[in-house]
Amino acid sequence: MNKHVIIIGSGLGGLTTGYILAKNGYRVTILEKNAQVGGCLQTFTRHGVKFETGMHYIGSMEKGQALYNYFNYLSLLPDVKVRALDKTAYDLISIGEKRFSFANGKENFVESLAQHFPAERSNLQNYCRIIGDVAGNSPLYSFQYTDSMVFLNEKYIKQSASGFIESIIKNPLLQSVLAGNLPLYAGVKDKTPLYIHALINDFYNKSTYRIVGGSDIIAKSLVKSIRSMGGTVLSSSPVSQINCDKTQAVSVTLKNGEEVRGDYFISNIHPKRMLELLGTNLIRKSYRERISALTNTIGNFTVYIHFKQNTVPYFNSNLYHYKQPDDVWRGGNYSQDTWPNSFLYMHLCSSVEQQYADGAILMTYMNYADVAPWAGTQIGRRGKDYDAFKQEKAERLLNLLESQMPGTQVNVAHYYTSTPLTYLDYTGTEDGSMYGVLRDCMEPTQSTVSQRTKIPNLFQVGQNINSHGILGVIIGAIITAGELLGIHAIVEQIKNMKS
Ligand SMILES: Cc1cc2nc3c(=O)[nH]c(=O)nc-3n(C[C@H](O)[C@H](O)[C@H](O)COP(=O)(O)OP(=O)(O)OC[C@H]3O[C@@H](n4cnc5c(N)ncnc54)[C@H](O)[C@@H]3O)c2cc1C
Repeated sequence: MNKHVIIIGSGLGGLTTGYILAKNGYRVTILEKNAQVGGCLQTFTRHGVKFETGMHYIGSMEKGQALYNYFNYLSLLPDVKVRALDKTAYDLISIGEKRFSFANGKENFVESLAQHFPAERSNLQNYCRIIGDVAGNSPLYSFQYTDSMVFLNEKYIKQSASGFIESIIKNPLLQSVLAGNLPLYAGVKDKTPLYIHALINDFYNKSTYRIVGGSDIIAKSLVKSIRSMGGTVLSSSPVSQINCDKTQAVSVTLKNGEEVRGDYFISNIHPKRMLELLGTNLIRKSYRERISALTNTIGNFTVYIHFKQNTVPYFNSNLYHYKQPDDVWRGGNYSQDTWPNSFLYMHLCSSVEQQYADGAILMTYMNYADVAPWAGTQIGRRGKDYDAFKQEKAERLLNLLESQMPGTQVNVAHYYTSTPLTYLDYTGTEDGSMYGVLRDCMEPTQSTVSQRTKIPNLFQVGQNINSHGILGVIIGAIITAGELLGIHAIVEQIKNMKS
């Protein structure tokens, strides 16, 4: 009889692990609390426009590049269609009145920025070289597998991204520009490790795409494959307890009281939430205290914009705007008077050849504390004061967008909003955080959560383990599935895949 693996949560981490284990003969059951699978891959549709909630653009999708190889292994390529962003400006970094373009390819990247900062050309080359080296040091990203599978050179974990940029680049404005897509990882000055900045920037610099038709396609495709391999994926099935005997986990209890027994258990939910499901004394108090003390990345406030038909030309870049250079690293240190200090604006991609945008995502940072007064209320029933709060915030954010993209506001047909409370309720992420646990280069061990737990048959996966984002979570899933299969066995399968 095949071993039964129960996975709690159908985020990208849970689905990817489920796919790998089902492909390797395990009996997989994935239990998802929401009606829709996918966690951050979820979408919602209003007035015919589909909005992504937590996966807006991806990188390294050209044949032979890292994500392409993983999508090939996960049988995603036939279902997931992509549209390339502007190769000369996949990200536009706007600071004050100035705009700078991130161009695909290291040479183009350097040339594009050296036009504005000619004295920094060789420093920019050096920056790109080191970014490439750091990324290349991650075997599961660069496919330079070593026997030891040491994932990263320790110095890249202990050096901060901000300190690295300042050590290479002299011009303070260029320092801010290079950190301009920081909302992709909600970096914190002097804390966020260099390797996170490097992996993300190298990943997107290689090639950059939007997913045509929405990120839920990834989740649906993985579910289809898991089911075709005999696995079970159940939505609307919240797990309320993980039950253990004296040595290990034996079953989970669903909110409806049903008990599901298994041989292995994998949690795809925030580690703090997982501990709440575990009443056992197999977990030490010190571990519980450490997990409960973890800092999480900041949350976000998003305006989902629905445009009047054929009014706003499709914009093939992502626009990151900051009122001033210092705002790049400001993150959650804003005052209520000056909020929002920055935004990220992206059009949704509904077809490969579209001329006009149907909708857009406009997001900025928001601390959980701002919405804490409404904690415990239910979605759609948080009260009039919450609605007024959201409307006031949305208008401020739309006004800031208008200052950068004049003429946009008049073409808004409808808009919808979300806050950190929305994410807390939908994905169960602590504090409505965007990317889960904040990695701190000053405390690398304390701020890292292992895929292993003290319970021998209970593992973790997802953005709180390894790293966040499409690539970080897929690599984390390989590490977690590797606990049962051996990482090398999975790596061999990926290497032997034909594309
Ligand atoms: C606003 C935003 C924008 C982003 N943009 C990008 C981007 O452009 N590109 C990119 O690569 N990454 C992006 N990311 C990051 C990326 O989406 C995430 O890192 C990744 O999808 C997280 O996957 P996960 O497996 O960790 O779990 P999650 O997506 O958090 O899923 C966890 C799942 O567990 C379920 N669950 C929770 N509790 C229970 C329970 N008790 N029982 C059963 N199920 C439960 C939840 O409902 C959820 O479905 C973005 C994230 C956010 C928030």
